[in-house]
Amino acid sequence: STKLMQGKRGLIMGLANDKSIAWGIAKACAEQGAELAFSYQGDALKKRVGPLAEQLGSNELIECDVSSEESIDALFAYLEKIWGKLDFVVHAIGFSDKSELRGRYVDTSRANFQMSMDISVYSFTAVVQRAEKMMNEGGSCLTLTYYGAEKVMPHYNVMGVAKAALEASVRYLAEDLGKDGIRVNAISAGTIKTLAASGIGDFRYIMKWNEYNAPLRRTVTQDEVGKSALYLLSDLSSAVTGEILHVDSGYHVVGMKAVDAPDI
Ligand code: NAD
Repeated sequence: STKLMQGKRGLIMGLANDKSIAWGIAKACAEQGAELAFSYQGDALKKRVGPLAEQLGSNELIECDVSSEESIDALFAYLEKIWGKLDFVVHAIGFSDKSELRGRYVDTSRANFQMSMDISVYSFTAVVQRAEKMMNEGGSCLTLTYYGAEKVMPHYNVMGVAKAALEASVRYLAEDLGKDGIRVNAISAGTIKTLAASGIGDFRYIMKWNEYNAPLRRTVTQDEVGKSALYLLSDLSSAVTGEILHVDSGYHVVGMKAVDAPDI
């Protein structure tokens, strides 16, 4: 039987280490036969990302800082050269000054607001803008978001505002590119202990809270996000676009828990 992603070529952005959500997604895609290229931020990450890419049969590693237009252009110029066409892209990137991922949202500085929006929101649009030109036979674009876009979560602050804008941009991008058969979706992932997440205040407490209060009574793994990403990146979801898919053990549907929730 042919594999789900056989013959598909995809770019994975945001792999930092084997805890990254991008790693869970890359593994799921590679297992189903996808050919992958990886972009990473800064030379320091190369020695960690290189062996991971190699494990999945890829030696296409491209440096890209998404805060730079030139850097994104260089990434896509390289992909154009080696592949010509692109079938999917995964944007698993977010950033904010961690001193503002604690305390009050109202204290957010203009400089960090702008940086967080630039790296965590605009970069997805900038990437899709370039990917579109390489997706002549249609394609699938995916980004990662969080429930803090919809409801106030402790310490998420400016990232919540950024994720709300990211989710809105998923919908606008889906409409713009739909007529060319390019789909744009997001996964709203439950809390996972990654490098980025460790910057958020009281993260362990938030993980516990999710575990006690989600319908499935647990958090999610990067492999589970990977499996759901596979659905959105493959033809299994050929009529799905503009969607925010919650992969969060159902946490987002709960208003208030019944009395069986233990005291925290
Ligand atoms: P991670 O730290 O493994 O990945 C974040 C990545 O962003 C890193 O690879 C980092 O290099 C990259 N990045 C930051 N600034 C960049 C820049 N200027 N240019 C290029 N790359 C840059 O953490 P993660 O949790 O896997 O994060 C991936 C995505 O998932 C983020 O968008 C995050 O907000 C989202 N998310 C995470 C959780 C969670 O609980 N971990 C939940 C929901 C959504």
